Amino acid sequence: MKQYDVIVIGAGAAGLFCAAEAAKRGRKVQVLDHAKRLGGKILMSGGGRCNFTNMYASPENFLSDNPHYCKSALSRYTQWDFIGLVAEYGIAYHEKTLGQLFCDNSAKDILNLLLKECEKAGAAITSQCEIIDIDKVSSGYTLQTNKGEYQCESLVVATGGLSIPKLGASPFGYKIAEQFGLTIKPTRAGLVPFTLHEHDKTVLAELSGISLDARASCNNTSFNENILFTHRGLSGPAVLQISSFWQPGEHVEFDLFPNGDLLEELTQSQQQSPDSLLATALSKHFPKRYVQTALPYLGLDNKPLKQFQGKQLEQVSTAFHQWQLKPNGTEGYRTAEVTLGGVDTNQLSSKTMMAKDVERLFFIGEVVDVTGWLGGYNFQWAWSSAWVAGQNV
Ligand code: FAD
Repeated sequence: MKQYDVIVIGAGAAGLFCAAEAAKRGRKVQVLDHAKRLGGKILMSGGGRCNFTNMYASPENFLSDNPHYCKSALSRYTQWDFIGLVAEYGIAYHEKTLGQLFCDNSAKDILNLLLKECEKAGAAITSQCEIIDIDKVSSGYTLQTNKGEYQCESLVVATGGLSIPKLGASPFGYKIAEQFGLTIKPTRAGLVPFTLHEHDKTVLAELSGISLDARASCNNTSFNENILFTHRGLSGPAVLQISSFWQPGEHVEFDLFPNGDLLEELTQSQQQSPDSLLATALSKHFPKRYVQTALPYLGLDNKPLKQFQGKQLEQVSTAFHQWQLKPNGTEGYRTAEVTLGGVDTNQLSSKTMMAKDVERLFFIGEVVDVTGWLGGYNFQWAWSSAWVAGQNV
């Protein structure tokens, strides 16, 4: 039997950071992960450069059934704390856009930082460890695994969400929660591309590779970033962001000319060049290939501007400012960046991350019902929740 003060299940962002913090306090820590390769999601994140935090991270950037839950952790271990640690390790980074901080070189820098923190503090890590059974005993928990029996006082569940199963994602954390009587808020894929109904898919696939500035809106929430047409459907930052707010069957509205007034532009073109075709006028503002496909798709005639009378130009403008699209669904966990829902925060202490009714059982990171927007927020939640648990295990 291997005896530890703390066992952390999951050697991802949250698990490794929590293990290092707990070990710094002198706790004897073991991290167990079933994957062969550690930190797979970190390495894949941010297109290989890891968007490790966001300068403007605040509780408003997170979705949860209980929006207050994340406040304490985010204020006790902030983005500036993590940025300080990144700087201590001499990792070069830059702001890409909207406060999003990426490594200049590689996401490996962040994984190496976490592994080094664990090594310096003396936290042990075991990979390819299948946990078969967990029992609560008077002194804590016993774990039966393919690598023998482990015992610990405090058990931290940091198994992440369901996205990208090939990187080791599993529902194990939710199962542990249920085993100890906690409830799970329904899970679904977030930060994920939309798939389209057959007609939209066939037409819009022609636009594959084109990206446009857009404001995507749904359920009183809007994001002003890019959208990207793909051969499978619709992606790009604005789409990924709004996907977390979208429910099946709903429409998403896209303003495809978010930073101007298309009616004003078209009216001006009509006055200056009345014989110009609508497509020519629109091509000043949108890629030509997009205009060619969009006009018939939106039911608009490509005729000379002088032939648009009365409210007709307004209708054209509205078709671009308020494009209504009903997605067929999403690409699901196969490509989602995060899992919405998870362990119900009403049953956890926001001060310690411990289950309120289960002594010394902690939940951190993405397994918890706290989900960030796109832009480094999900890693910040991993760091903040892990740090808090690390001080309390
Ligand atoms: P994970 O990092 O997922 O770690 C969970 C660990 O638990 C894994 O190592 C897994 O193997 C292990 N595990 C699971 N089940 C078991 C089991 N049964 N037994 C033992 N171990 C188990 N967020 C950002 O903020 N910025 C980004 O740039 C960014 N890019 C992303 C890109 C992609 C493609 C994806 C998929 C996600 C991205 N995210 C990003 C989200 C971010 O990666 C996650 O929110 C974050 O990794 C969650 O950390 P975690 O430690 O909770 O879970």
